[in-house]
Amino acid sequence: MRRAAPVRVAHASAAGVFAALVALAALAVAAAALARAAAPPTGFPGEEAGATVEVLVLTRFHPRAATLDGPRALRLAADGVALRVDGHAVAAPLTLERARWTITLPDGTVRGYDAALRVGAAAGELRIVAAMEREDYVARAVAAETLPGTPPAALEAQAIVTRSFALAPGARHREAPLCDLAHCQAHTPVADAAHAEAARQAAEATRERVLRLPTGAVARAVFHACCGGGTADPSEVFGGGDETGARAASDPSCEADAWSVTLPVAEVEAAVGTALGAAGPVPIGRLLLERDPHGRVLRLLDTATARWVAGDALARALDRTQDWSVVKSARFDWRAAGATVRIEGRGHGHGVGLCQRGAARRARRGAGAAEILRHYFAARPGSATFRASRTPAPGGSAAPPRSAPAPTE
Ligand SMILES: [Zn+2]
Ligand SMILES: [Zn+2]
Repeated sequence: MRRAAPVRVAHASAAGVFAALVALAALAVAAAALARAAAPPTGFPGEEAGATVEVLVLTRFHPRAATLDGPRALRLAADGVALRVDGHAVAAPLTLERARWTITLPDGTVRGYDAALRVGAAAGELRIVAAMEREDYVARAVAAETLPGTPPAALEAQAIVTRSFALAPGARHREAPLCDLAHCQAHTPVADAAHAEAARQAAEATRERVLRLPTGAVARAVFHACCGGGTADPSEVFGGGDETGARAASDPSCEADAWSVTLPVAEVEAAVGTALGAAGPVPIGRLLLERDPHGRVLRLLDTATARWVAGDALARALDRTQDWSVVKSARFDWRAAGATVRIEGRGHGHGVGLCQRGAARRARRGAGAAEILRHYFAARPGSATFRASRTPAPGGSAAPPRSAPAPTE
């Protein structure tokens, strides 16, 4: 799109003013077209400067009632799908202006949000959505999802991954795109003030930076605690077209992160039966584990029925029988011996995207956030902001297309 010619108003006559108005209107149309040309071909909600992130909060507590303190005090209660405020039925959802709100639950749990709130009710529980400033969300999620002592560059890499996940298209919940649990990204307060501050600095240092897929869309970037020696191919773990922008990368120093457990064979066969959707337990002798080059189980095949289940789902099904955190990843082998099954594995998590253990190690060796991300992702850093929403450059020229790669560091 070429720039519109400058408009000159040479005469102050009525006709001249009219002509100038027509010319100005034409200029406005041209400017609007320029803005459209600079915008992406499809909408990427939440990317505008100063955009908010909507998070479904406190669901873990299944709150039936709550007290709100802020610009005013309110008592909220859910009654089926009806919402009561100070004892009176009100139309749901109730929307509350952006302010500092403190939510107190009957069990004494207290959470503070600088956010606009939207409160509804479902099945007798309050459904509270907090719309918070994007970078405030990123800072809190980075703090919640990392260990104290994580080096700054690793926190910065995490912040870019966290921001990308939050801004990637698609909602994971009916009420909001994200929840505040590890299902999406943990967003719970951390007690360690120094760690919270380090996370805030990482968010600030990477402000508006995201990972982008070759299409220009923000990558639904993911992370895990420790890969166990190499990260996984996202399509092989999650199936379908990849939206994470991750790549399989070797990470030899993570091999030391080993775990093992011995389980009753009946328990394993029952868990496998459930994971496969079979009618009952499936004998371990007819099961085949298929692996990627790093030894991660990609899928478990029942050779008798040709039913199969993804390795990550198998690991979670086994772990569920042990109240979680025993079978920590799909990178394992098992050996049946009599009435027990010995499971030995490495790593913690699904193995896709940023390996937090590896990122911290690379940061301690002097790598910056961009170098860390280049190791774990094929997606490339870019800006989270529509160029069209920025202050126009002098002379009104169009900003470069947002798909242009931004400097990496
Ligand atoms: Zn969620
Ligand atoms: Zn690793």
